[in-house]
Amino acid sequence: MQALLIEQSDGAYQTVLSEISPQQLPPGNVTVDVNWSSINYKDALAITGKGKIIRQFPMVPGIDFAGRVHHSEDPRFHVGQQVLLTGFGVGETHWGGLAEQARVNGDWLVALPEGLSERQAMILGTAGFTAMLCVMALEDGGVTPDKGEIVVTGASGGVGSTAVALLSALGYRVAAVSGRAGNADYLRQLGAAQVLPRSEFTAEGRPLEKQRWAGAIDTVGGNVLANVLAQVEYSGAVAACGLAGGFTLPTSVMPFILRNVRLQGVDSVQTPAARRIEAWKRLVKTIPASFYQQATTEISLSEAPEAARRLLNNEVTGRTLVKVS
Ligand code: NDP
Repeated sequence: MQALLIEQSDGAYQTVLSEISPQQLPPGNVTVDVNWSSINYKDALAITGKGKIIRQFPMVPGIDFAGRVHHSEDPRFHVGQQVLLTGFGVGETHWGGLAEQARVNGDWLVALPEGLSERQAMILGTAGFTAMLCVMALEDGGVTPDKGEIVVTGASGGVGSTAVALLSALGYRVAAVSGRAGNADYLRQLGAAQVLPRSEFTAEGRPLEKQRWAGAIDTVGGNVLANVLAQVEYSGAVAACGLAGGFTLPTSVMPFILRNVRLQGVDSVQTPAARRIEAWKRLVKTIPASFYQQATTEISLSEAPEAARRLLNNEVTGRTLVKVS
């Protein structure tokens, strides 16, 4: 079967489309025939070697996949059942979804929710799942549509695009922050009420600025997140999930102690099963059908390395879906 394989020898890091046998798959109690996967930011770091994601070689990347159960020793899953997987270190420390088969621990699998195809599941993928977790974090923080406008940073990326579409569908007014002026129409079609240039958020700002946002979903980190925090209204909440602009957070305690602002971290990798299932159900219910056409670029397995390079160059809009078999 075909698999993307990351190898490192004599310091040279390379990702190549390879032929592997099922016997090479890692241990696990469920084997899945993978039909779809996707390229997330973390996949791009792993495939290109630009981030230290992979430490054991060879490794099959792909932090998410959807497919059908091929063999199962887990009573919760039967042969032919449609499943999806995101996170749990798959595609990082355990061979992942960019191969025609994956062998995993049944605890990591989610039965494909009703109303969602395998293809749609991977258009959403880890990015969409994370966007939903961010929306749920805002809700947990008491941010309802009547409270005011929500700002989404890194808006034309995978998490950002899905967050814009979800928030808009839920009745929030959304401001999308993007470094690419050419994506303004795309973001408005997804539901953004206004599109702001990233440059407004990248300079070092003051600890507190004029209050503008009831809440925020940040995929960028660094000065952008610091500036967003300084602009959040009294008792607002910020869901922070990403570092596309850097992993630092040059902020002060002022938004927290003077404006009662809540900063909620969001991790999709170890999300407990009950919240995982809830997030997927809500995604299926909320995401508009139009999103699947608007936000998707479909590629083949052999095109994944080039797509990863483009994503890190900030040349990809929306989600990159990989047709594996
Ligand atoms: P994408 O590459 O699809 O999106 C990132 C977006 O961020 C880009 O489209 C771009 O949007 C913006 N961006 C890119 N480079 C910079 C920069 N240097 N400075 C500021 N903005 C920039 O990635 P994903 O949507 O897949 O992931 C987004 C982030 O979320 C990543 O950091 C990823 O690691 C993280 N993530 C975290 C998860 C978790 O569990 N916590 C799960 C999934 C993702 P634009 O051009 O519109 O400005």
